[in-house]
Amino acid sequence: MPRPPKYRRVEFEPRITYFKPAGIPKCKLQELTLNVEELEAIRLKDKEGLEQEECAERMHVSRPTFQRILMSAREKIADAIVEGKAIRIEGGNYRLATETVQCAACQYEFEIPLGCGYRQRFVKCPKCDKVIENINFCKP
Ligand SMILES: [Zn+2]
Repeated sequence: MPRPPKYRRVEFEPRITYFKPAGIPKCKLQELTLNVEELEAIRLKDKEGLEQEECAERMHVSRPTFQRILMSAREKIADAIVEGKAIRIEGGNYRLATETVQCAACQYEFEIPLGCGYRQRFVKCPKCDKVIENINFCKP
């Protein structure tokens, strides 16, 4: 029996998913694909500056697996910048992280995506329709 795929936990869903070098005609453009968990590894380690141990925990993977995802991401980005290739961000085995929110009016609990990319400030309770404001989607 094939093993079920393991989903990596991702807190950030990118809105910008294509990067391309300026001044290169489309027919000469080479493209590579960075998947969403590779971007997440770069974000946690190189942008947020977290320790590898913490990055691995946040993504629900082992440390060696995190290291492998990170190295793959860095190699692709280096390749793109040095060789002038376009980067398409898509795919991968990931699940967007969610957090539980409780409606103050009716006490109903529901899940919302963490997705720092959206920077939403409010969400509607699916049960009573009351707007719940000031949700901090970006946990430190
Ligand atoms: Zn409610």
